[in-house]
Amino acid sequence: MKVAVVKESAPGERRVTLVPEMLARLRGAGLEVLVESGAGDGAWFADSAYAEAGATVVSRDELLAAADLILTVGQPDEQILGRLRSGQAILGMLNPLADPGLAATLASRGITAISLDGLPRTLSRAQGMDALSSQANVAGYKAALVGAAAFGRFFPMLTTAAGTARPARVLILGTGVAGLQAIGTARRLGAVVSAYDVRPQTKTEVESLGGTFIELTSVRDAGGEGGYARALSDEERQAQQAELADHIARHDVVITTAQVPGRKPPLLVTEDALKAMSAGAVVVDMASGPLGGNVAGSVPGETIVTGNGVSVIGAGNLAASVPGASSAFLARNIATLLLHMVADGELAIDPADEIQAGVVITHEGAVIHPATAALLAESTPAAGPPGGATP
Ligand code: NAD
Repeated sequence: MKVAVVKESAPGERRVTLVPEMLARLRGAGLEVLVESGAGDGAWFADSAYAEAGATVVSRDELLAAADLILTVGQPDEQILGRLRSGQAILGMLNPLADPGLAATLASRGITAISLDGLPRTLSRAQGMDALSSQANVAGYKAALVGAAAFGRFFPMLTTAAGTARPARVLILGTGVAGLQAIGTARRLGAVVSAYDVRPQTKTEVESLGGTFIELTSVRDAGGEGGYARALSDEERQAQQAELADHIARHDVVITTAQVPGRKPPLLVTEDALKAMSAGAVVVDMASGPLGGNVAGSVPGETIVTGNGVSVIGAGNLAASVPGASSAFLARNIATLLLHMVADGELAIDPADEIQAGVVITHEGAVIHPATAALLAESTPAAGPPGGATP
């Protein structure tokens, strides 16, 4: 089987799906690796490094024509999508729960789609394949650095001949994988860190990293399925926003990471909360993306300064800005998953396998991932009587 690494084309995307170090493992399993020329440039992996590791470096045209399996970081770009042919497979963060339409398109075109974000993350044998966690770790680390760089004061307490600076007060909203890494990083920089999550079981993890867990009276436990948060009701959300606003106002840097799978991210920092913050404060919105974000007015990839001097940084894809580390992790996740799914050098699709049941979204012309298929069924209106006649 020919596995193809494309050069990513999304704005700001500097990651690459395989790094040269990972090629020996794949070749040992009978896979041939094709790399689009320049694919590793953004992460400082030269074509020559891939060639030395045994890959064939080719143009995009040659790559798409010859590939059996195409690896992408996120969803395929329009050019790849337009050229996929029946029988080919694609693997990446395809986000089928937020975009089931892409899955429907791929199924109708006879493409096998494998999505890294469907992995059953709590299975211990799947942990080496967990790209959501590996990329969230990188992003959480970078979020603390982005917050520190944009803040016009120190993170640590500093005593110098010119005076003493108090440590920055940092608040992390959402303490999943990214939030915990942001806490650890901000603590290592010397900040005083508080954190909040709707899943109160994260309190001990926050405390073990040296943070203070904030408990709200307005929302109790909002843990949902599989260790994720559930969406809050409108009333819960409003009460949470109002109660959080007082805490937000007391902090210098706020980093938000809250996500609910397949849904719009919850709004945690409202316009009123931003108005109550001090000039010079910084808010880093890691949930910022096309569906919205955790912070009112945040724009993906941009920094907005509010009228009262608060910098709101839309930072939804921070893993892409630490491309060496994030690509190395991602490549290991992808290679581990591929080796699990390959037999005799070919993809061996088996929806009965617990890992494959999570990641294989389309196969042999159908959407076989149950949650994605259910979303598509919901969005397709039931067929009416022939001719549209009403009884
Ligand atoms: P995520 O990216 O889906 O969300 C980030 C955080 O935001 C979560 O902690 C969530 O509770 C929180 N959140 C959602 N809505 C919120 C709101 N309204 N207010 C405040 N916080 C809100 O989460 P994730 O980092 O992908 O992790 C999700 C879960 O998966 C966690 O329980 C994590 O421990 C678990 N996990 C387990 C494993 C494993 O067992 N190996 C691996 C990875 C993740």
